[in-house]
Amino acid sequence: MSAPLRLTHQPLDLSLRQPWTISRGTRRLAQNVLVRLHWREPGGREVEGLGEAAPYAYYGELRETVQACLDAFAGLLGDDPFALDAVLDALEGRLRHNPSAKAAVDMALHDLVGKLTERPLWQLWGLDPGRGPLTSFSIGLDEPEVMAEKARAAADYPLLKIKVGTDRDLENVRAVRAAAPGARLVVDANTAWTARQAVRMIRDLQPFDLLFVEQPVGARDLEGLRFVRERSAVPIIADESCATAEDVPALASCVDGVNVKLMKCGGLRAARRLIEVARAHHLSVMCGCLIESSLSITAASHLLPLLDYADLDGNLLLAADPFQGVLCDAGRLTLPRAPGLGVTSR
Ligand SMILES: [Mg+2]
Repeated sequence: MSAPLRLTHQPLDLSLRQPWTISRGTRRLAQNVLVRLHWREPGGREVEGLGEAAPYAYYGELRETVQACLDAFAGLLGDDPFALDAVLDALEGRLRHNPSAKAAVDMALHDLVGKLTERPLWQLWGLDPGRGPLTSFSIGLDEPEVMAEKARAAADYPLLKIKVGTDRDLENVRAVRAAAPGARLVVDANTAWTARQAVRMIRDLQPFDLLFVEQPVGARDLEGLRFVRERSAVPIIADESCATAEDVPALASCVDGVNVKLMKCGGLRAARRLIEVARAHHLSVMCGCLIESSLSITAASHLLPLLDYADLDGNLLLAADPFQGVLCDAGRLTLPRAPGLGVTSR
């Protein structure tokens, strides 16, 4: 008889080095949750899988709701970590939504399976760790001179993602361009523009040769996305409009690509499904993140060989990162070779 999987969790407070501002507001602290799945092998070895939830009120979650979900999930885990699909289906059957709570358990299960088989996750999935895009580095909203300063500090990143959605976007992008003349630029409006405003802004930003524009209009405004895309020369990527694979069919004719996040879709299993569905609809795929430690950033980085674009920099904005895993050097991410997620405490 195998021992049951045991789940414990604790608060994981992540302070940001500098306040982080996007068009929706400013954050100084991420109130995440650390999950541990404990399992004793029939031979007696105790193995631990790690996961992280980054609840975000915009997607309907708080630390307290994550903790309540985890308590509800604790009795559904069974006694076999290799039965990952069945366990995750049981969580889906118990509670709808709550994606970051599910992502934390999903991540910890994947970590556990990798550690038990002594293989890194990318290898279990049959992926080539040398493939995959560079990650962008994100510049939050601020005064133009502060955004320029941040861009200078990130000068070795070949791709900078600039947050927009203010009345001085042009000035901000111009300041970043002057500070980082060699970088390729993307902008992310986080739903701030109307469709007509977006078309005008994207036209005004044409001299900056944007690689793509992320979520120009409201999350539910699919017709707005289509309107912008039909009138813009720059690819449009859906972020807030696309949480799970089920969102893809309706979006497919409105955008050029989707931004996958573990904390929106509910974990690695759901992310791989979302990527497959996006590919079937001829969409490009990027993977982004929220304010997260190297634990969940590393989990997401195992998807890197499947992506066109990566924006996995949430851990780089932290005052102190309690974990280490994926390494980032001038935007080049190196996947761990250690078993499972390949994450250790600092
Ligand atoms: Mg975004």
